[in-house]
Amino acid sequence: MKIAICASEVFPFAKTGGLADVTGALPLALEDLGQQVIIFMPKYQTVSSGKWPLKKEKDGLFSTSLGKNIKVYFIEHDGYFNRPGLYGEKTGDYPDNLERFAFFNKKTLDFLKEIDFKPDIIHIHDWQASLIPVYLKTVYSDNPFYKDIKSLLTIHNIGYQGLFSKDEFYKLGLDWSLFNINGLEFYNQINLLKGGIIFSDAINTVSPTYSKEIQTKEFGFGLEGVLNQKKDSLYGILNGIDYSVWNPETDQFIFKNYSAQQLDKRYENKAALQKFCNLPVKDVLLIGMVSRLAEQKGWDILGEAIDQICEYDLQLVILGTGDLKYHILLEEIQKKYPQRCAVYLKFDEVLAHRIYASSDVFLMPSRYEPCGLGQMISLKYGAVPLVFKTGGLADTISSKNGFVFDVYKKEELINKIKEALNLYRNKNRWISLVKRTFTYNFSWQESAKEYIRLYQKLICK
Ligand code: ADP
Repeated sequence: MKIAICASEVFPFAKTGGLADVTGALPLALEDLGQQVIIFMPKYQTVSSGKWPLKKEKDGLFSTSLGKNIKVYFIEHDGYFNRPGLYGEKTGDYPDNLERFAFFNKKTLDFLKEIDFKPDIIHIHDWQASLIPVYLKTVYSDNPFYKDIKSLLTIHNIGYQGLFSKDEFYKLGLDWSLFNINGLEFYNQINLLKGGIIFSDAINTVSPTYSKEIQTKEFGFGLEGVLNQKKDSLYGILNGIDYSVWNPETDQFIFKNYSAQQLDKRYENKAALQKFCNLPVKDVLLIGMVSRLAEQKGWDILGEAIDQICEYDLQLVILGTGDLKYHILLEEIQKKYPQRCAVYLKFDEVLAHRIYASSDVFLMPSRYEPCGLGQMISLKYGAVPLVFKTGGLADTISSKNGFVFDVYKKEELINKIKEALNLYRNKNRWISLVKRTFTYNFSWQESAKEYIRLYQKLICK
């Protein structure tokens, strides 16, 4: 099969979250299973300044390679993409995001024809690529090159839909008739993700539970109705983890490599992190977090609970960026509990690896979680996940490999932390739980096989 993947971020070229991990790892797994894959993404500043060689293919198109033979195409437009951020900066989203990503989507389709790569499947991700199926079924539908190309939209998080003022609709180059309730209109605004849902041939989310949740009012963010209408072509495929990046035995970023049989070396990582964080180097439950600082990630209840949590005999290391109010809160907490809490308000790949390799508990109390990678990574590193039972967290974590609370309240979160503290004091039981976490395998191979089955289904439709 010929597959074109189109996304606004792909690891290692640009990353703000789990989307990049998926679009960076899935192509490799597909290639290993014998598929022919190419990738399209914008040529951001991080792409131009990166350490990979860039080849100019033609005006406005650059490339590099990934895996054995995957071409990654970067679409150039310095005015739109040569900026420090992907979607915005500290002050907020870039005001021209609609134009930026409409341009990226249209150019992807144009360049497919110019490089003469006619995919069987175009696999698009999130709202930033959601105009592709819309264009395929409208503006490009008379062009024989695009006939029979099937599209799959993966929704990584339905909380982000690409909402814009209807005054910008003319910039999309689409007929006004598409601005209605059965098209891209959403409460008098443009909703790009809704366009993707309606016009793509199939949709999937990144875990089976989340694919059901988003059809409900509680989790659908207003799109539950449209998703319900398309429920026969809505699937849930759990993300995997790229174990060539996330493996404590080979990880170059951590202080000491280790396996499940070498927990003593794991403790060396813990001591080194404690030292790095200016925390007392001692045997105490260390809770780690690597997270966007957003309500979705549980910060509303965690924000309420954190003071109480820091009163316990434990240590907390938090790495994250996001909402200003949580930055302020965490700075205060760090000041108040310098012996218990270390906070790093930034994006830091190296520190993230070190936190996974050093924490006893990995905290991820997300209010909703499409899939979640943090809990799967932490299992691989022997950090026991503590999660709320939702979406992909519910599909991957149970009392066998972690701590799960199922009522979204700060009291329940605190109770689970107390449970972890108690278990930690029982060294034998704790070590057997830690050893068990290493046995879980969420490799991309299985997920990629499921994607291939879904692609095949679409082609035969
Ligand atoms: P998201 O909803 O943010 O995509 P996921 O759990 O699916 O959440 O993926 C988050 C990914 O981003 C993980 O690889 C995690 O380690 C990484 N990450 C999140 N915040 C940071 C940060 N501040 N620094 C480094 N890595 C981070």
